[in-house]
Amino acid sequence: MLASASKIFFHLIARSQTLKKLASRYGMRKPSSFARRFIAGETTAEAIEAARAVEARGMTVTMDLLGEGVTNLDKADAATRDYISVVDAMIASGVGRNISLKLTQLGLDVDKAIAIDNFRKILERTEPAGFFVRIDMENSPYTEVTLEIFETLRRHGSRQIGVVLQSALYRSEDDLGHVNALGARVRLVKGAYKEPKAVAYRKKADVDAAYARMLKTLLTEGHDPAIATHDPAMIALARQVARDHHVAPDRFEFQMLYGVRRDLQAMLVKAGYRVRVYIPFGREWFPYFMRRLGERPANVLFAIRGILRDAG
Ligand SMILES: Cc1cc2nc3c(=O)[nH]c(=O)nc-3n(C[C@H](O)[C@H](O)[C@H](O)COP(=O)(O)OP(=O)(O)OC[C@H]3O[C@@H](n4cnc5c(N)ncnc54)[C@H](O)[C@@H]3O)c2cc1C
Repeated sequence: MLASASKIFFHLIARSQTLKKLASRYGMRKPSSFARRFIAGETTAEAIEAARAVEARGMTVTMDLLGEGVTNLDKADAATRDYISVVDAMIASGVGRNISLKLTQLGLDVDKAIAIDNFRKILERTEPAGFFVRIDMENSPYTEVTLEIFETLRRHGSRQIGVVLQSALYRSEDDLGHVNALGARVRLVKGAYKEPKAVAYRKKADVDAAYARMLKTLLTEGHDPAIATHDPAMIALARQVARDHHVAPDRFEFQMLYGVRRDLQAMLVKAGYRVRVYIPFGREWFPYFMRRLGERPANVLFAIRGILRDAG
């Protein structure tokens, strides 16, 4: 009942321009605004403050300057320059040197060669400074091209980069074998996008079963694996597989999103595991925020309550 009512609200927000405007206007306005549960702030300074708080709790971070689906080269160029300033600010602040980015943010939809060039410009700054750069995985039209760009850059010598594979996609188990064979780093996720059934499992049980299979392969054959999930069953399975196969806790890490299951994050740190928190920030927060609402019905009610409170 709650789930179906929330789904209806979710689709209303996604479709209604007025609700969208209200959510974007009020979501981040005040320190108490509702989108701040998932987004660390609109500025780099706010994100760095959030990163420091996460690090003080014994975890590491990856910083994500939000942005995606850029439709012209000026914006792609601006996003590239913004990312480089974020990198500089991170170096100056002393927070952990790890970022996540999306290739459509750098212009992949407009011109692939320019997106690669923009990515290289960022790598020119991050590589000498010892950063690790994770290329987030977007929806399925971008899977092939994202993996291809990743592999090309690796072949040309970029070693401090990694990819994300989504257990929801049928192809991902093959992709995992391939990326493992390259010796490269994978973050394993379930997948945040609504995909057609031609390419992806539709039932949650199938996505979870694929995640469980991939988790075993990644932990036993992967390189610096990142198990990115808030699902207690998958976390318990990862711990079990690691124990059974003598994979020490310092050979892999759990990853979770800012603002999601802080209780589990703390429990894992206490149990001696490495936990990295993904810290999204920036003015382009709306699509990311909507994906978080879509994942969990209760979040939609939380957002609606926030809109009513802040706009009231
Ligand atoms: C570090 C990190 C990076 C990611 N990068 C990508 C990426 O590059 N590409 C991509 O497609 N996806 C990415 N994702 C998102 C991922 O694909 C899932 O959509 C998301 O993690 C929810 O799935 P789950 O594994 O937590 O399991 P689920 O089965 O969806 O959830 C398990 C439990 O986690 C909690 N939970 C999950 N989501 C939420 C939420 N939004 N709010 C509150 N509680 C929640 C609930 O308690 C839920 O019962 C990333 C996730 C993480 C943690």
